[in-house]
Amino acid sequence: MRSVLNRTDGPAIVCAQAGNVNTGAFDPLREIETIAHAKSAWLHIDGAFGLWAAAAPSLRHLVDGAARADSWTVDGHKWLNVPYDSGFVIVAHPAAHAAAMTQSAAYLLRANDRERDCQEWTPEASRRARGTAVYAALRSLGRRGLDELVTRCCRCAGRIAARLGAEEGVDVLNEVVLNQVLVRFRSRSGENISPAVAARFQREGVCWAGGTEWRGEPAVRISVSAWKTTDEDVDRSVESIVRAHAASR
Ligand SMILES: *Cc1c(COP(=O)(O)O)cnc(C)c1O
Repeated sequence: MRSVLNRTDGPAIVCAQAGNVNTGAFDPLREIETIAHAKSAWLHIDGAFGLWAAAAPSLRHLVDGAARADSWTVDGHKWLNVPYDSGFVIVAHPAAHAAAMTQSAAYLLRANDRERDCQEWTPEASRRARGTAVYAALRSLGRRGLDELVTRCCRCAGRIAARLGAEEGVDVLNEVVLNQVLVRFRSRSGENISPAVAARFQREGVCWAGGTEWRGEPAVRISVSAWKTTDEDVDRSVESIVRAHAASR
């Protein structure tokens, strides 16, 4: 990254990831921030689900350095479990944010000076009150509830990895740092049968996890993010996955 930025002139945007979609891994945000800002690049963090780690004291170290980024994107429709299209953009430079978003036309009413004018913050002029569900979720969970939700999902992911990892022919491919478990299923002869196993447990319907590709080979991506998921759900899900694996081998 340092050498690419050295070769670049003109404005640059660096996009770092907090929470890889397959593994849940975090880019080294503090180090990236130091390099990006030394070159006056804008540092954006894609933290769609991963930035919620900041809400859990036991996981907060994962987002170390994020506070110095220029902008974040975070989703409400994942870990906060509110309806789709509830995304947040958090920008450290209000003037740049407003300059990028503000639109005006003679027929559009403007808020008076003391009011926040929503048209200065989002790309669209009209939208439903998405904030209501988000506010309700945050108020009902509170600081401790949010911590509990995030921490429990991660603990459940660890439990899945420990249980599946103990099975013959199941490889857990990632170090579970958050709520993602990446697994590969093998037949008795060692063939990768991940898509067949996924199709089978998806049909059984106890749990759902999707297929993905990791380092050029199919794998299954297990993501724990529902507010309702408990250790019992995890155990039932693991049993279903193990059944599907046994039947596919
Ligand atoms: C879900 C996700 C996105 C896409 O965001 P949407 O708001 O759902 O469109 C981008 N990046 C990461 C890491 C994600 O998990």
